[in-house]
Amino acid sequence: MQTDRIAQLDTIAAISTPPGKGGVAVIRISGCDAIGVAEKCFRPKSGAAASALPSRTAIYGEILSSGVCIDDGILTLFRAPHSYTGEDTAEISCHGGRLIQTKVLEGLFAAGARPAGPGEFTKRAVLNQRLALSEAEAIGALIDAETDAQLRLSAKDSRSLLTKRLEEITGELLRILSVHFADFDFPDEDPVDSSVKTTLKWLRAVKGEIDSLVDTYPTGRAVSEGIRAVLLGRPNVGKSSVYNALVGEDAAIVTPHAGTTRDVLEKRISIGPVLVELSDTAGIRESADPIEQLGVARSRARLADADLQLVVLDRSEGLRGEDLELLDLVKESGKTPILLLNKSDLPPAFSKEDLPKELSNVIECSAESGLGIDALGELIVRLFCDSALSIGETAIVTTARQMASLREASDCLAEAIFDFANDVPTDAAVSGVERALSAVMKTSGRLVTEEVVDTIFKSFCVGK
Ligand code: GDP
Repeated sequence: MQTDRIAQLDTIAAISTPPGKGGVAVIRISGCDAIGVAEKCFRPKSGAAASALPSRTAIYGEILSSGVCIDDGILTLFRAPHSYTGEDTAEISCHGGRLIQTKVLEGLFAAGARPAGPGEFTKRAVLNQRLALSEAEAIGALIDAETDAQLRLSAKDSRSLLTKRLEEITGELLRILSVHFADFDFPDEDPVDSSVKTTLKWLRAVKGEIDSLVDTYPTGRAVSEGIRAVLLGRPNVGKSSVYNALVGEDAAIVTPHAGTTRDVLEKRISIGPVLVELSDTAGIRESADPIEQLGVARSRARLADADLQLVVLDRSEGLRGEDLELLDLVKESGKTPILLLNKSDLPPAFSKEDLPKELSNVIECSAESGLGIDALGELIVRLFCDSALSIGETAIVTTARQMASLREASDCLAEAIFDFANDVPTDAAVSGVERALSAVMKTSGRLVTEEVVDTIFKSFCVGK
């Protein structure tokens, strides 16, 4: 941690509590002159200078805007590097009226702060290495969390699990590199085993670790970002009824008249730990009605970009040409759909065996009676969440950025393994390991070059 070398940036200020009216509002100031700005805007009741306040203590006093008292409240100072951003930081708690918050902020701007950009405090925390990038991402997710599973995934213990795993992998790659660097510089004195056989064993083990993290991404994505699911089917098979049964309310209009749903209806729901953006679409069929045609075009577009296609068939009627055409369209998209044999409360007009053989996810259901709706939920969870992963207790990759850089690390290690196994000279073969290291450090957001140099130097000294 390079806390003694933090270069403090210009002073920023923003309201940290949610917009609107509340009991209390917190206004945060961070940067090289945070304490000076706070001092101009806060007069402690005790008469002491605000800047004399010890770090991490709170004091009551008057809040000033351009020298005029506008409220009373609490000031807390956090001196660098022991603050969220790593810089000098001050927090003013004032009364939570809309106008008063704005006035306090204006006073801070008049005293020399500038408005903070979105996420700027957290960005500074990352730049100052107070926070790994992966943790900052999890904090963003924590704030946005809508479901219990999202909360568990982004809670402090859970997000530090990923950071810890990334740090372990970083340490292991640095150790492998340091063994080979020691070998280049002191070939006669090398006491460690830098043989190809041992190196390959280590590299394969680290690659396995990285690959197992990459494999957690589909679950992480389903929980944190969510999946897009679309209900498809010809008119009147019961799409809107299934939509309502899943959403748990009468959000979509259900009628016996074909073509009632013309636009796409959407709702975010949680099915177990999976966040689902569920769309109900107009039935896909040929229609002369221009409005219905537009709805059908939108349904086709949804079909293409959904993560999950829920194809609804009316089991009380025979399979029609429109049903089979839809199944062909779904097949062309290359995704695995779930087939819902709806209206299973009525006598069946066809059996599962009449369906194309490749369709394996078939559920007999009745949106009207609720039959099969729980089974549908369980199947969705099974398809999108790895049951071996315990959310909140396992390191889980949650963003596409993390997944892409870990995949890059895995590819680089595959190259290094190939090179070592094929007698490529060591100085060239280690380049894959170095690139893998950069990619892993990119994942956590840690600085690459300085840390590489420092750690190699440290392990070099210890080794010698
Ligand atoms: P959509 O056009 O595909 O969205 O179909 P709707 O959800 O509007 O349903 C069309 C008709 O089928 C309505 O009269 C519903 O009450 C009826 N329906 C939907 N699901 C079921 C079911 O599971 N069983 C029975 N018996 N009728 C259903």
